[in-house]
Amino acid sequence: MAFLDVTNATKKFGGFIAINDVSFSVEKGARHAIIGPNGAGKTTLFNLISGLILPTTGSIALEGQRLSRMKPHEIVRIGMARSFQKVNVFPRKTAFENVQVALIANRKLQFNPFHAAAGLFGDEIMQLLEQVRLGGDSGRRAGELAHGKQKQLELAVALAAEPKILLLDEPTAGMSIAETLSSIALIRDIVQQRGITLLFTEHDMNVVFEIASTISVLHHGEIIATGLPHEVRANDDVQRIYLGR
Ligand code: ADP
Repeated sequence: MAFLDVTNATKKFGGFIAINDVSFSVEKGARHAIIGPNGAGKTTLFNLISGLILPTTGSIALEGQRLSRMKPHEIVRIGMARSFQKVNVFPRKTAFENVQVALIANRKLQFNPFHAAAGLFGDEIMQLLEQVRLGGDSGRRAGELAHGKQKQLELAVALAAEPKILLLDEPTAGMSIAETLSSIALIRDIVQQRGITLLFTEHDMNVVFEIASTISVLHHGEIIATGLPHEVRANDDVQRIYLGR
């Protein structure tokens, strides 16, 4: 048993097989990238792993606990948090409030306006915001932050769930080069410091090689290679299919 096990997972949409008998494992502490061309099935695979959709056949298990029958919020409770390609924060709430709502949910409290007014979890919220370099933006509305900062806020919201494993779907999508570089360093530092296992999809190969300790290549819904970055880079199939050489 590895940390996260995907076993013979298949997902069909009508007659179309988006994920075809995929098996792979993510080791504890790994920074595991899923790469592949557009339409390869990366988002579908992420949606399966995080319980957003059910596999047609096959199973997914975190530390031996089968996820396939759990609801997404139960999956969060057992230690998996995820972000989406599109920014997913409450735009009219401040950065502080966005993290507060996540912490309140994580501690299983009913949200109550008095909690917010009393600055509940204030120190913890500021610590999280500082860790994602948003300490100076705590009072700003999320919708007014630059795209890169909104992604940092999303990361703080995900960390508020105290995940063992973090799933990031194209974490640098839509970012400028400067934002991308600082975001990569931030993600790598945070997962290392907190001992969080990372599973991410990414189309930017520079980002992949900067962050990943292991890479799996998805092509037409099938994993065609898994290995260390230098192994995957040298794999003939990968060069031909993905890198276009
Ligand atoms: P990627 O994230 O690698 O770009 P996706 O997982 O988004 O790939 O899509 C894989 C394939 O599955 C695509 O051909 C896409 O059109 C198809 N697909 C994804 N979601 C659905 C759906 N809900 N219904 C039908 N087809 C879908």
